[in-house]
Amino acid sequence: MAETEFDYDLFVIGGGSGGVRAARVAAGEHGARVGLAEHDRYGGTCVIRGCVPKKLMVFASEYAHVVDEANAYGWDHKAGGFDWSAFRGKLHSELDRLEGVYRNLLKSSGVDTFDARATLKDAHTVALSGGETKTAKHILIATGGHPVRPDLPNADLGIVSDDIFHLDELPKSMLIIGGGYIACEFACIMNGLGVEVTQYYRGAQILRGFDDEARGLVAESMRENGVDLHLGTNIVEMSLAADHKDGPMPTASDAAMGASAQQRRDIPGKSGAKGSRKGPIWVKSTNGTEKVFDMVMFATGRDPSSREMGLEDIGVSIGRRGEVVVNEYSQTGVPSIYAIGDVTNRVNLTPVAIREGMAFVQTVFAAEPTPVDHELIASAIFTQPEMGTVGMSEEEARDKEEVEIYCTSFRPMQTAFAGKPNRVLMKLVVSKKDRTVLGCHIVAPHAGELIQLAGIAVKAKLTKEQFDATCAVHPTMSEELVTMRNPMRTA
Ligand code: NDP
Repeated sequence: MAETEFDYDLFVIGGGSGGVRAARVAAGEHGARVGLAEHDRYGGTCVIRGCVPKKLMVFASEYAHVVDEANAYGWDHKAGGFDWSAFRGKLHSELDRLEGVYRNLLKSSGVDTFDARATLKDAHTVALSGGETKTAKHILIATGGHPVRPDLPNADLGIVSDDIFHLDELPKSMLIIGGGYIACEFACIMNGLGVEVTQYYRGAQILRGFDDEARGLVAESMRENGVDLHLGTNIVEMSLAADHKDGPMPTASDAAMGASAQQRRDIPGKSGAKGSRKGPIWVKSTNGTEKVFDMVMFATGRDPSSREMGLEDIGVSIGRRGEVVVNEYSQTGVPSIYAIGDVTNRVNLTPVAIREGMAFVQTVFAAEPTPVDHELIASAIFTQPEMGTVGMSEEEARDKEEVEIYCTSFRPMQTAFAGKPNRVLMKLVVSKKDRTVLGCHIVAPHAGELIQLAGIAVKAKLTKEQFDATCAVHPTMSEELVTMRNPMRTA
């Protein structure tokens, strides 16, 4: 087919952060004729059921301790209750507004949008669920990922992260399965909102792959804050409590929370809600305990959304987890088809998908082959306290070369004054050979904000001496990053 005979220069499948960015830059800045299909809501995981609503829930949950702390500083504030339905209404209005922004961005860039599911017919042809067929010189798959439940009978009784923004009421008790980003973030959020949270993680420590000391402090702080975290524990059986053969068991909130339940903050106005849509759930765990929770949430990972799109039929390789296999230019084995974002399961973060989208446009529409740089990406886990991280953990670095570890953990001024036990951690992993800072790990309030800046220095491969040449900002928590004179150890 001659180039001009294609309906579009580019057809994007998926209206999330990566797909929308690629579409509007290709159309707006390079004059490409672009079509985009989205079968759900524009904005994708990040805007509709991920980063944005999650972060708003983080903010909501963090107000739980504000009254206590203000009073310790001499205020006389009275705690009130948390109104989930008022918050949820406002949250969804905000998501509607943002979806409108995404639609408008596409429209103003001249992108044709189709509210339809797309499948591939051949290397240049897309079939839309409405019955239309569109051809394009290039096709970009940006369909993201979706949460997965473990292969367990009755697993559909549990919710996943997509569902949590739509709950009718907050449950009184909740079991969260998993120890990754989503499990830990929602354990902290729901705990802050007054839900009795139990978390089961099958491994020895949450947040596998991150720096051991940093994740140790996050786990300890989560427990101190009231999350009933069980390590080396997994779910083995579940059913509706009403259907369970031995009759109702004591609820987690009745019995099993033990000391951590007593340590919980008493939140006035806590809903004592009825629980999930399906009723209380009986759960048996690997350690033999049986408990009943109002709600169970699976945060057991996400798979790329690549199935039932006809990709394999037209020769696009799909990996074991469902990831679309691409080269460093995000190109699949079918030269006209590219893929970016979570569907490629490289680094599953919104800013990375956006960069992959930009690099794709540069490669294809500016004729400048641009590989995606996946090295030294800073990220944050919005637990309480937050964890910000960039570069290698101590464990990863010491397997590669000899390193010096600069680390300090202390009670920060603001909460120490209020009599709180909270601790923070600042850690640098430094190459002994050339003094480069190989990794920076921060556990502290606003660690996400701090690591964005520390990330510049680590990405620029600055040395410990260059960190030290930077004058401290006093009094701050992060001044420790430039004042740690002596290594704590060599590894
Ligand atoms: P993760 O892969 O981070 O964590 C999945 C967790 O579930 C792991 O603890 C894993 O255990 C556990 N798990 C997997 N299968 C089972 C099973 N069958 N039974 C019990 N436990 C199981 O996935 P998430 O869903 O938390 O997050 C997905 C991705 O989304 C992240 O990797 C991240 O890229 C992105 N994300 C980023 C955020 C941020 O930047 N703040 C926030 C949220 C998500 P094990 O460790 O043993 O494998």
